[in-house]
Amino acid sequence: KLPDPDLPKIKESLLGVQHKILVLSGKGGVGKSTVTAHLAYALSQDTDAHVGVLDVDICGPSIPRIMGVANEQVHSSGSGWSPIYIEDNLCVMSPGFLLASPKDAVIWRGPKKNGLIKQFLRDVDWGSLEYLVVDTPPGTSDEHLSIVQFLAMAGIDGAVIVTTPQEVALSDVRKEINFCKKVGIPVVGIIDNMSILVCPKCKNSSVIFPPIAGGVEKVAVEMGIPFLGSIPLDPLIGKCCDNGQSYLESSPDSPATKAYLNICNKI
Ligand code: ADP
Repeated sequence: KLPDPDLPKIKESLLGVQHKILVLSGKGGVGKSTVTAHLAYALSQDTDAHVGVLDVDICGPSIPRIMGVANEQVHSSGSGWSPIYIEDNLCVMSPGFLLASPKDAVIWRGPKKNGLIKQFLRDVDWGSLEYLVVDTPPGTSDEHLSIVQFLAMAGIDGAVIVTTPQEVALSDVRKEINFCKKVGIPVVGIIDNMSILVCPKCKNSSVIFPPIAGGVEKVAVEMGIPFLGSIPLDPLIGKCCDNGQSYLESSPDSPATKAYLNICNKI
């Protein structure tokens, strides 16, 4: 098989991007897109780094809504497709920007999805970024294989895995870790999401899901993967995501914001 002539082009297009990080989850609904958006907010606000978010969840792009840019459309300039800027140092690209209406569904088969992911990597004018954070669909699908293949020359720095602490979600985490091993992507670490609820009134913590002995941290240790931290369940996170606002700005002193900033220091 001939080498893909686009790989060197992708490498060149991403020369200004220092770190490329994938965000993975075994299951849908564990908070992967929420975590992607808030890691990007945290990295861009805490370190003044230039951060890009690439949404490759082609059939279920939720990043535009979460980050408050749901009605934007992509523009092209001489240097390629321009991402949508949320702040001077925070920009986003998503298949959602290519739809006529945010309510439209994308029903595409593998080759067309591959083509779009390639365009996002080769034709978007990302400029200089410290971090490109990539939101992927749940599980391991075509999109993951494409991104790994297309970034083979440009390089992927690592994957962050998001999970909730139920056994169903955790057994899929093991699959994600094995996928990373197979394709040679280092695992940056695991984030435990929504395992505890901090009561807004009494500030005590309660455990939400039936606890698995040792929880996510134990699984991380067993598998030799760094544990990045736990993000508590906070109803305001869901509200901010629905309104397209940064939770970190809305609730700067909350335990979940502290958890995000702490995790972002480990990435
Ligand atoms: P995924 O990308 O894994 O499918 P989402 O990021 O869409 O999951 O999150 C699923 C739902 O959970 C969303 O409604 C989101 O607002 C909510 N959510 C995610 N993390 C938290 C959290 N820590 N506290 C409260 N709600 C959360």
